[in-house]
Amino acid sequence: MIAERSDYSFLRTRLLNGDPSISSLVSDYLQRIHEHTYLNAFIDVYDTWALEQAESVDAKIRGGEQPGLAGMIVAVKDNICIRSTRVTCASKMLESFESVYDASVIKKIRDAGAVIIGKTNMDEFAMGSSTENSRFGVVRNPHNTEHVSGGSSGGSAAAVAADLALAALGSDTGGSIRQPASFTGVYGLKPTYGRVSRNGLVAFASSFDQIGPFARSVSDIAALLKVIAGRDPYDTTSASVPVPDYPARLNKDISGLTIGVPEEYFTDDLEENVRSVIDTNIEKLREAGAAVIPLSLPHTDYTIAAYYILTTAEASSNLARYDGVRYTYRADDVEDLSGMYTRTRSEAFGEEVKRRIMLGTFVLSSGYYDAYYRKAQKVRRLIKNDFDAAFTKVDCIITPTTPGTAFRLGEKVDDPLQMYLSDVYTTSANLAGIPGMSIPCGYDKNNLPVGLQILGKQFDEQTLLNTAYALET
Ligand code: GLN
Repeated sequence: MIAERSDYSFLRTRLLNGDPSISSLVSDYLQRIHEHTYLNAFIDVYDTWALEQAESVDAKIRGGEQPGLAGMIVAVKDNICIRSTRVTCASKMLESFESVYDASVIKKIRDAGAVIIGKTNMDEFAMGSSTENSRFGVVRNPHNTEHVSGGSSGGSAAAVAADLALAALGSDTGGSIRQPASFTGVYGLKPTYGRVSRNGLVAFASSFDQIGPFARSVSDIAALLKVIAGRDPYDTTSASVPVPDYPARLNKDISGLTIGVPEEYFTDDLEENVRSVIDTNIEKLREAGAAVIPLSLPHTDYTIAAYYILTTAEASSNLARYDGVRYTYRADDVEDLSGMYTRTRSEAFGEEVKRRIMLGTFVLSSGYYDAYYRKAQKVRRLIKNDFDAAFTKVDCIITPTTPGTAFRLGEKVDDPLQMYLSDVYTTSANLAGIPGMSIPCGYDKNNLPVGLQILGKQFDEQTLLNTAYALET
């Protein structure tokens, strides 16, 4: 059995000595997963394949190799492709769709010795903030099962929080890594746009989507990021920017760092509970020698509107491919081709996905394009400019990850606008293309985790990691 809850960096030395073997560790984790099915964190568990992967990594270790992620047990969000396994996006549309290739991140982590244990539950096509929009049912929060785990990567977050995996991969278009990380008390990082290849990630909003890691320590996030980052010829938006050795350069000495605190992220919407925990942590950063200064990001009020116009526009175009012809679900008993398209899409997409496709189609339609889509693009630039200006004065920015802690199951599901507002602090990073990280930093009065968000300059994930490291230790 797993003797104590620990992170990968802690276990690594033992794994490299074969005690425990990776195979036996994987068996323990498989057992834990099957004991925690009530959380509903997984869509598929690879009982047989995970053990096969483990045996081959064990053999490598016996042969003297020491791959960088040897034995890291990773759960993968079900919108990332793994060859010959299904990738459902938690949608009826793709319920039995099998991927024909490995996403680039999958190849990279497997080459580095990680073991993929299963696919995690999510909001359908990554649209949502609670994992309540899943074809496979809601993910429960390991800290209180009457509460959500957040979304859309709720399954990845819950799996790491409940120690059903050592780490996980998720995707973040507007907060889907950071918000569930915050709700479940784990670390979650959305890299700079272009830092990690999107090849093999099912597209939601292509100019926003990024894959990133979840883990229980900063060192583990750093180790995983180092492996998945970098230019990939299969994704033309991945950047040719050198990838630093993040774990080797982890440094908790943050004296000399200037940290900005934007006033627009500390308004009345912020729960008092969360505010006080964040304030305590800001104080800790001061004590650690950082200069903390107030800041203004004047276009913050427009982030949610711009985000929901631009991402729905991109989604309406990206999801046009699910037409009943090329993917697995197809309505039967149809009269003609156009009936087949309509019935297939009406039957296989859930309510939220349809809402987004309709919104997106509307903002792109002639007559409304200038009023909505073009205007939102301009706002996106203004938001980016806010951050550019801020980063001439500060090295990173601290905010709450979310205005409140994990809400109750069902609390917001009938009110899309309330649901959208839970992304109010996270969408700006995707609009601006900058990296963001949520770190667990305390609990509210109901013992639910509070997350603190660190935002940084493009391609400067190291500063986020170091700041997080200073707070962790
Ligand atoms: N909750 C946000 C949305 O519904 C973010 C989703 C995401 O990052 N994938 O769009």
